[in-house]
Amino acid sequence: MNIGILGLGLIGGSLGFDLRSQGHHILGVSRRESTCEKAVALGSVDQASVDLSLLAAAEVVFICTPLALIVPQLEQLIAHLSVTTVVTDVGSAKAEIVKAISPLWNNFIGGHPMAGRTDSGIEAAQRHLFVGKPYVLTPITTTPTTAITIVEDIVRSLGANIYHCQPEQHDYAVSWISHLPVMVSSSLIAACLSETDPDVLQLAQKLASSGFRDTSRVGGGNSELGVMMARYNRQALLRSLQQYRHHLDELTNLIDQENWAVLEEKLKLTHQARRNFVE
Ligand code: NAP
Repeated sequence: MNIGILGLGLIGGSLGFDLRSQGHHILGVSRRESTCEKAVALGSVDQASVDLSLLAAAEVVFICTPLALIVPQLEQLIAHLSVTTVVTDVGSAKAEIVKAISPLWNNFIGGHPMAGRTDSGIEAAQRHLFVGKPYVLTPITTTPTTAITIVEDIVRSLGANIYHCQPEQHDYAVSWISHLPVMVSSSLIAACLSETDPDVLQLAQKLASSGFRDTSRVGGGNSELGVMMARYNRQALLRSLQQYRHHLDELTNLIDQENWAVLEEKLKLTHQARRNFVE
């Protein structure tokens, strides 16, 4: 199959590696010539160009640009596609994008691979990134069954676990487990930096080990992506942040009041609940 990838960064480049290794012919389009050359040299794509017309031969196109460019790029891409071309995207927020694209391109299904890394760009792309990871598809009532089946087959071939939901449900769910953690983790790093004693700060930086590595990872990631998550999932993220602040206040009060028994109850509860999210 001829598969087009628009935006050869972490996600687009990683998709290219795996789909190409299955024998698909991968056509890549990116903004910079240097990225196109790298993608070909690394073996992520067969052909690459900064010109959208390269994607005219694609039967399926994955739009993997930053969130704010997904709709504008689709608008420019349409002129080059045949009516049968299936388009999907990998954007981390879905409601706005699905709402904007659906009237423009009927053969479209929204998607979101729940896989990522702290680094970005084609150099960060890696093989098998999606294996064993959730991959959300957000078809709506007008999405053609053929488009759903074609994208499902490709996603399944990546070794990912497929989930279907409404775009709005997706945005609320990822607000809790993806977008809120970015803001919490960023606040954690910022709070540590507020230490006024330079010796203590330096010591903390030296002592930071696995716990800090885990909890700071998403806050130390791609800042552009973090801003896009907030912009495109603003309502859901604000709702999650309010709840988070409420729970932080509760913990603060318990510690302030030296209420160790209730604190222990709360920590026991979260200890037990964690496995429902990550196991
Ligand atoms: P990324 O590594 O920064 O890659 C995005 C790529 O898009 C850049 O390498 C850039 O290529 C290209 N690009 C920028 N403007 C473009 C344009 N006008 N036309 C064509 N290509 C353009 O970002 P990413 O992490 O892969 O994220 C891409 C998408 O995946 C986003 O929508 C994000 O929401 C979604 N996503 C990200 C993650 C994650 O954890 N990172 C997870 C799931 C989904 P050049 O080098 O040519 O400028």
